[in-house]
Amino acid sequence: MTLLFFDAHCHLHDERIYTDLSNIVARAQEVGVRHMVSCATRPQNFDRTAALACTHGQVIPCFGIHPWFVDTLPENWQQWLETFLTAHRSGIGETGLDFMDKRADQDLQIRVFSHHLALARELERPINIHIRKAWDTFIHLLKKFGPLKSSGLIHSYSGSADMIPLFERYNLYISFSGSVTRPNAKKVVRALGAVSSQRLVIETDAPDIYPSLSDPPGNTLNEPKNLPAIAQIAARRVNMGFEEFAAQAYHNSLTLFRPILPQKIAQKEI
Ligand SMILES: [Zn+2]
Repeated sequence: MTLLFFDAHCHLHDERIYTDLSNIVARAQEVGVRHMVSCATRPQNFDRTAALACTHGQVIPCFGIHPWFVDTLPENWQQWLETFLTAHRSGIGETGLDFMDKRADQDLQIRVFSHHLALARELERPINIHIRKAWDTFIHLLKKFGPLKSSGLIHSYSGSADMIPLFERYNLYISFSGSVTRPNAKKVVRALGAVSSQRLVIETDAPDIYPSLSDPPGNTLNEPKNLPAIAQIAARRVNMGFEEFAAQAYHNSLTLFRPILPQKIAQKEI
């Protein structure tokens, strides 16, 4: 049986890998990575994200404003976002809160993220969320907005294991990246062990978060073809069988992204 994989969060528009995109998609297909969710991060890369998803049927686009870019937004960013979301079968994100840098404009991040949460509800689209060092504020917003209508994921989860049941109640999936492969990733591994089997998804965040593989190549740019290797290490770290782990994560991603999968695939695979 060939195992199938679903990269729930990556950035194929990124300058560092974009020029090699056809090869990157081909290499992903060779190892069973059948779908890739490519998240735009600001209006400047919406066009490219839409175009690459049109060219490559395996790529599902998401449009959103990453918290790192909230202070350089054009005035009409909301219009940009709605235009792309309406024109394309797409999800929302990457969006969220990142308070790692103490100088970040937290109020502005909250306003921009809240707009995305409202859009996710209104358009009933899955949402791809980034949270770093902002868990209390995130939980406060979730309580204000209520459980997500068409679900979403917390990408490259870095929170504690004990918050996970709350997030699951709010209809969120928990996504694990190459950070789970780090030899000292105790907190992330504990979180992985705490996720319900129906709420687990996996991602590469390519071209970032290159996983700790036993045989690293000279190149440290991550790409979706590394997802099976990430899954193999992750499964081992929580004492799960690799096949069972991979099949569960794939099935969960299909369920989560069902509203925006290409129509033919949505009918065939679910
Ligand atoms: Zn990302």
